[in-house]
Amino acid sequence: MAKNILVTGGTGYIGSWVVKNLLEAGYTVRLTTRDKTRTSKFEHLTVIASESPGALEIYEADLLKEGSFDEPAEGYDAIIHMASPFTLRFDDPEKELVEPALSGTENVLMAANKTDSVKKVVLTSSVAAVHGDNIDMKEKGLKEFTEANFNTSSSVEHQPYSYSKVVAEKKAWEIYEKQNNWQLVVINPSFVLGPPLNAITNSESLQFMQDMLSGKFYLGAPNLQFGFVDVRDVARAHLLALECGEAEGRYILAERTMSVYDLSKMIKQLFGKKYRLPLMRAPKFMLYLTGWMFGLTRKFIKRNVGYFIKLNSTKSREKLGLKYRPLKETIVDMVNQMESFGLV
Ligand code: NDP
Repeated sequence: MAKNILVTGGTGYIGSWVVKNLLEAGYTVRLTTRDKTRTSKFEHLTVIASESPGALEIYEADLLKEGSFDEPAEGYDAIIHMASPFTLRFDDPEKELVEPALSGTENVLMAANKTDSVKKVVLTSSVAAVHGDNIDMKEKGLKEFTEANFNTSSSVEHQPYSYSKVVAEKKAWEIYEKQNNWQLVVINPSFVLGPPLNAITNSESLQFMQDMLSGKFYLGAPNLQFGFVDVRDVARAHLLALECGEAEGRYILAERTMSVYDLSKMIKQLFGKKYRLPLMRAPKFMLYLTGWMFGLTRKFIKRNVGYFIKLNSTKSREKLGLKYRPLKETIVDMVNQMESFGLV
């Protein structure tokens, strides 16, 4: 069984939970971060390591630097490759999103190729690599999205984050096909919510909840559907993928799909009037006028708002044996933890 695991992106929102689970299960974890002197990004994990049977080593590596992951991967049994920028706030999408996602995947998987020890790679992709716009389901004549689908509607200009995820995942499959030493398992989470382990992250998951609770959507939340999944379930799925010898292919993770407006109603039900939550569902015509304030382009609004999506997560339930936490529990734990970190 694999004992030594390299985790890229382990300092992040999801990665921290993955590292915590690995340490508690007794693994030796090598964590990469771009700047080892920024200890605030991983101090929480050092504390967890000191109380767990596992061990933690910190290495410096950058997705954009060729050969950067060679040393950390050397002699290790498996790699969880999770590092990738997840932000919707950028100036240059090619440089800030696509290049690190794509070159990073190449650099990490080349590091796997350079050492015989690596036998498995678990890649964190996204449902953004399964579909682009919500209208895709209707346009492709599908009743739901499954692991058989790939995003064909995103580009550097339109939904660049989604584009970065699909090109990176495709690159991973391409590199995997050309070798025989390691297995590849891909995790495709939908939008991740749930309690953070650290207050320092750029993840859009926390930004989204901050926006929601601080009243950014007060005058109206969009009828925009997403899949949602708990961060602890996403971490668990990575461990199941790592440990289960039969794990193969892609796994969509989603507890359910619902609109941002319906999610806000759920938060209102749970927390009453404590937060300036949306008063109503924003009509689409209003979004055409105000969408720019939220960074939404007209094309995005046109092709996403008001379109129903269904994500089939049966494979994760039946083949990985993943049990999903109910979304209400996810929200309560996330809001309480963000309050205790002073993030809301
Ligand atoms: P975070 O922003 O919290 O974490 C991103 C991680 O990537 C950090 O650990 C960061 O490390 C690392 N990273 C970013 N850029 C670079 C770089 N140039 N070189 C090396 N490392 C880099 O995001 P999340 O935890 O939310 O996301 C983690 C992964 O999960 C991403 O691949 C994302 O696409 C995917 N995902 C996220 C979803 C969500 O809803 N949150 C949904 C589906 C998929 P450091 O700063 O320490 O160098």
